[in-house]
Amino acid sequence: MLTGRSPSPPSSDRVRPDVAVVGAGPIGLAIAWRCAARGLRVVVHDPAPGSGASAVAAGMLSPVAEAHFGERQLTGLLLASAARWPAFAAELTEATGVEVGYRTEGTLMVGLTGDDLAEARRLWAYQQGLGLPVTPLRPSELRDSEPALAPRVRGGALAPTDHQVDPRLLVPALRTAAQRAGAVLVPQPVRKLSDVDATVTVVAAGCGATALTGLPVRPVKGQILRLRAPDGVAPGFRHVIRGYADGEHVYLVPRADGEVVLGATVEERSDTTVTAGAVQRLLRAGVDLLPELAEYDLVEAVAGLRPGTPDNAPILGPLPDRPDVLVATGHHRHGIVLTPITADLIAELVLGGVPDPMLAPFRADRFGGAAVAASGGPEPSVEGDLWS
Ligand SMILES: Cc1cc2nc3c(=O)[nH]c(=O)nc-3n(C[C@H](O)[C@H](O)[C@H](O)COP(=O)(O)OP(=O)(O)OC[C@H]3O[C@@H](n4cnc5c(N)ncnc54)[C@H](O)[C@@H]3O)c2cc1C
Repeated sequence: MLTGRSPSPPSSDRVRPDVAVVGAGPIGLAIAWRCAARGLRVVVHDPAPGSGASAVAAGMLSPVAEAHFGERQLTGLLLASAARWPAFAAELTEATGVEVGYRTEGTLMVGLTGDDLAEARRLWAYQQGLGLPVTPLRPSELRDSEPALAPRVRGGALAPTDHQVDPRLLVPALRTAAQRAGAVLVPQPVRKLSDVDATVTVVAAGCGATALTGLPVRPVKGQILRLRAPDGVAPGFRHVIRGYADGEHVYLVPRADGEVVLGATVEERSDTTVTAGAVQRLLRAGVDLLPELAEYDLVEAVAGLRPGTPDNAPILGPLPDRPDVLVATGHHRHGIVLTPITADLIAELVLGGVPDPMLAPFRADRFGGAAVAASGGPEPSVEGDLWS
């Protein structure tokens, strides 16, 4: 068990850190913040903080709309983390003075055609069967709640507890909070775990975790667009809109400053090129659902790599046979919504040495076979048996 010290900036390089976090995305920075705020000496290694998947992410906090068949344990974790978001956002704003774009208007799920609506309804029925708040709306109620929707949209349902945050505000705020709490950022990559000198190492490197740990994290490409309402006005809709449009699944996330995020493809590829076909499909589906988008400026087309796992759920906890190395990766489509709970549970594990029962379904050894820890890593130190 690591003991928190009275919070003070980690001083000289000669003092061995309590915790080395590899990766300064939302996951790594939030863990660093939580650990440093508890008085631990924390260093964070990343040559390009915030440059991973979070740099392009939409920021939907959607445990309900993202509740899919066969993913009940993941849904439970998403719900638990989403419930922490209001306090997490408030605490972050208090620590940094920065608003992170946390908005609570809720999410409208819609179907454009009869076939789209039939597909959507199957999922809503599943979500309602789990007891989740999904309220089908009559067409008139749908129009009243979002008049900008195309008249062709056949039907919809409201998920009032699915919210949003702006990852491009969130990640810099987390970095500021972590540094103010005393974490030190080292702008270098970690090439192998044996290069890290700390009592506990936390691998939060997104897709970079595979090279360090051998765990089955793979890049899942997502192309995404950013549009902007003309003349700097706010978009003509308030809800996050998730739609099925002629078989395409898209979402539209409105920001207060006029930006609309329109995403995203899901591709088993590891490049980040933007293709004309993807842009065309996203725009067509987006404009079909919300015709006013045709008048918006197209300001960005970009792609990022989600850290995916074989079962779409994150990997949280000790690396097999390396109890001094914790992993927090594989957040796939959910790294923003899962930031608060990941940070809390991993920081508690670092400090207390005992995994919270919520972590059990997400252990690193669930894929069978030991992960290949980077060769030549140090033997577990005095805390070696705490997480086995
Ligand atoms: C198009 C798209 C849309 C998305 N939309 C949403 C959404 O609406 N809601 C949601 O919850 N999630 C969303 N996501 C997923 C979310 O972005 C990720 O799950 C999340 O960013 C994962 O956070 P992370 O910190 O683990 O990894 P990342 O954000 O990828 O950050 C990893 C960091 O690790 C660093 N790193 C890598 N290797 C090393 C190394 N060897 N040494 C040091 N540093 C290293 C990188 O430089 C990077 O800064 C989306 C993703 C994409 C691509």
